[in-house]
Amino acid sequence: MAMHDHGAKQVQQLLARLLPAGEFGSFIGGHLLAGEGETIELVNAATGGVFMSYRDAGPALVAQAAEAAQQGQKHWWAKSATERGRIMYACGQAILEIGDDLAWLESLSAGKPIRDCRVEVAKVAEMFAYYAGWCDKLTGQVLPVATTHMTYTRHEPIGVVTQITPWNAPVFTCGWQIAPAICAGNGVLLKPSELTPLSSTVIGYVLHQAGLPAGLVNIINGYGHTTAAAAIAQPQTGKVVFVGSPATGSKVAQAAALRTLPSVLELGGKSANIVFADADLDRAVVGAQAAIFSAAGQSCVSGSRLLVQASVYTEVVARVASAASKLTLGLPWLEETMVGPVQNARQFAHVQNMVQSGIDEGAELVTGGPGQVAGGEAGFFQAPTVLAGVDNAMAVAQEEIFGPVLSVIPFTDEEQAVAIANASRFGLAGAVWTADVGRAHRLAAQVRAGTFWVNSYKAINVMAPFGGFGESGYGRSSGYEGLMEYTQSKSVWVETAAAPAAQFGYSIA
Ligand code: NAD
Repeated sequence: MAMHDHGAKQVQQLLARLLPAGEFGSFIGGHLLAGEGETIELVNAATGGVFMSYRDAGPALVAQAAEAAQQGQKHWWAKSATERGRIMYACGQAILEIGDDLAWLESLSAGKPIRDCRVEVAKVAEMFAYYAGWCDKLTGQVLPVATTHMTYTRHEPIGVVTQITPWNAPVFTCGWQIAPAICAGNGVLLKPSELTPLSSTVIGYVLHQAGLPAGLVNIINGYGHTTAAAAIAQPQTGKVVFVGSPATGSKVAQAAALRTLPSVLELGGKSANIVFADADLDRAVVGAQAAIFSAAGQSCVSGSRLLVQASVYTEVVARVASAASKLTLGLPWLEETMVGPVQNARQFAHVQNMVQSGIDEGAELVTGGPGQVAGGEAGFFQAPTVLAGVDNAMAVAQEEIFGPVLSVIPFTDEEQAVAIANASRFGLAGAVWTADVGRAHRLAAQVRAGTFWVNSYKAINVMAPFGGFGESGYGRSSGYEGLMEYTQSKSVWVETAAAPAAQFGYSIA
């Protein structure tokens, strides 16, 4: 195992506390099993050093996981709804109990500021508490049909679901998809990004310790084209839920469709954060920063396009750029760090290329560029970057950069603001800053996006459905709608008449 990085020792100590002894691999059927495929190295985003390696699960382990999920699901669904809710609540509590260790593990291994990781871990616990409450409320309806039948609906589990998640918010996304899936009675095969497998694997183990049947939740670690593809191909998989990039999402949906499996796609975005001249500009400037620089811009809902009304454009650009230059860029494990590194070398190169393409197309680099961080000289740091004078047709306004890079675009009036916001193939989120309540509601109705904020940005809660329009995907996560994605409904018809009417003219001979 190649281990020569700063964080290597700390990661090993955390894993020793949070996982059963043994070589790191996949969590299958209640056991940590070493993979059988290629060796995958994990890189510390802040230092560029390899801190750990593990082996891709490979097809035999994935088949074993699918079988375990099917068996676990049978035990789970055989329990009463009340008992399932009680265990799910205990899962949330168990996550809180290891919360600090889990946040540190996420910070060191995914390269996210520790302050952000603490918030995400708390949100994961909240997801289990929320869906614990749904377990005994997932009821069907009795339908007032015109015949003598009693007709009712049941929301039944799909069986086993395959979930595939990205590297930008590993622990959050893991809880976000597992909680509704098991609430609805399903077994799970979750394949985290090969770049960030640790926190999801710990979650799998903690859920098992908290009382889930062995095999109900399996974390299969490895590459997408090997391990995730094998999971989609398992006969037990009944649905595929994918969170990640549009290009991979399209491939995953095709693989699912070849098996006539339904899918949910939670993809990228290029969300418009719209500031009108009548807004409280102090709040709008703070909101614009939170929208793009939190998580170093590696968030699907990032407000990566800042649309600003012409009369306040110069002022807002100057204020956002000045604030951006003062944000603490730093090593993720330092408490004061507000903006950490980009998660991996490939993404870092993409961010640099996109900034250069903006400059080449005529945008002005007001602040930002590659960041200098003591102790992180070989890390993937991009200082909070503001590009002004952006035209919505430029690549920096159309392509997902997925880094701390803000493109600021001027507009003249409401009609033009909506037109620019909607001139995107994505439709994940959007926001408006204005003092005009009527305008706020008009924009909320007109901007094509699955989530819209008024005088706010990036507020997110498990109660609210979340998902995309257009190339941002389809299907919903979170809330009641997210729960429904993990069920299939059945209509049951019971004849109640003592002498039923003959159907289609048939009679007893
Ligand atoms: P990605 O598409 O490269 O990878 C996502 C997952 O797909 C990983 O687990 C990967 O191993 C797997 N994968 C890769 N090839 C595969 C294949 N052929 N078959 C099956 N699985 C395969 O995405 P990423 O770079 O890890 O994440 C960044 C993207 O995720 C961004 O576009 C971001 O906007 C998006 N994202 C969306 C949401 C949302 O809810 N809408 C949330 C977070 C991130």
